[in-house]
Amino acid sequence: MGIVVQKYGGSSVADAAGIKRVAQRIVNTKKLGHEVVVVVSAMGDTTDELIDLANEVSPLPPARELDMLLTAGERISMAVLAMAIQNLGHEARSFTGSQAGVITDDAHGRAKIIDVTPGRIRAAIDEGAIAIVAGFQGVSQTTKDITTLGRGGSDTTAVALAVALDAEVCEIYSDVDGIFTADPRIEPRARKVPRISYEETLEMAAQGAKILHLRCVEYARRYDMPIHVRSSFSEKEGTWVVKAEDVAQEDSMEAAIITGVAHDRSQAKITVVGVPDKPGEAAALFRAVADAQINIDMIVQNVSAAATSLTDISFTLPRGEGQTAMAALAAVQETIGFESLQYDDSVGKVSIVGAGMSSAPGISARFFEALSDAGVNIEMISTSEIRVSVVVSETQVQDAVNAAHAAFDLGSDEIEAVVYGGTGR
Ligand code: ASP
Ligand code: MG
Repeated sequence: MGIVVQKYGGSSVADAAGIKRVAQRIVNTKKLGHEVVVVVSAMGDTTDELIDLANEVSPLPPARELDMLLTAGERISMAVLAMAIQNLGHEARSFTGSQAGVITDDAHGRAKIIDVTPGRIRAAIDEGAIAIVAGFQGVSQTTKDITTLGRGGSDTTAVALAVALDAEVCEIYSDVDGIFTADPRIEPRARKVPRISYEETLEMAAQGAKILHLRCVEYARRYDMPIHVRSSFSEKEGTWVVKAEDVAQEDSMEAAIITGVAHDRSQAKITVVGVPDKPGEAAALFRAVADAQINIDMIVQNVSAAATSLTDISFTLPRGEGQTAMAALAAVQETIGFESLQYDDSVGKVSIVGAGMSSAPGISARFFEALSDAGVNIEMISTSEIRVSVVVSETQVQDAVNAAHAAFDLGSDEIEAVVYGGTGR
């Protein structure tokens, strides 16, 4: 039997009882004959608490020191988990990201993994031990400083290790039973998806579904590493994230056109009013935003009014960056010559995702009809080959999710989704 990499999220190891439960699960996997490598997140809300602490002593904590601080969270859980496993009579050894060979670039707070050299992990499992690795962290190849991979980055540690160790599967344990057709917290009829493609998972994650760290899915797709998303609180089979061909094979009898509905309440909308309709204006606007290092999402440009030859351009961006973007645009108002700026941070985005939609006509129409029947006004629309997204008022996000979920028959007859833990922080 091969290597299994298991990743346990913060809510699964929130306290001593959780750690003991997880330790037992790991030992059970080991007893089945697998070689087990475990990646852990920080206990419960530890990472948020450490960030709060940093902000109490400094309004702008230096990135290097913040990473040093945050990685302590995962070091606590890895050591305590190793103790709990040893207490069950099995050898376990914990390793920091650096010891596990997770080599990154030097971008503190959002480092990218550039190589994984898991020599010590391989040696530990060859000797029959269970290896426990601190997630979310690595060491910079150039500066040799400790780095973190961005919030939720332990998923990426797990997949990267699974690839480097040529594991059979990467199991990601959290407090829900898998990937659902919508967030069970706002759609009680959400159904568990048995298999989903890497591409659909990427779209769902990018559109706000809090399922997996985006980069972990990109990594898994690149190296075709199957991910099994499941709950550490139950024994149920979860969701398999696999190649598109493998989803089709299994579900060809009743291939769903829409796989799920994602929503995102973290965005804001900026409208630039009265932009002169001539070449170079949009370029100048978005250059100003880009130079402020802001990542934008949807863009809508209206046709210009014939009389004035002025047009409005709206775009969405992360709420946290709203003020920076407004300032950057205000600074170029005179040179570009637009009339005014509007800022709206009470918007939300709702998306339907499904590989089947590229070959099925009428999907957008059905989605928009459902929204209209629910009295939801659409403010912006964008699409990809396997996704349709709308921006709506934040107060209507839940109605929109429920309407889309029903319109595409995604709901189950029984309540399937159980949220076992976590504070959702
Ligand atoms: N502990 C880190 C966080 O809360 C990493 C993770 O959970 O994956 O973001
Ligand atoms: Mg966490």
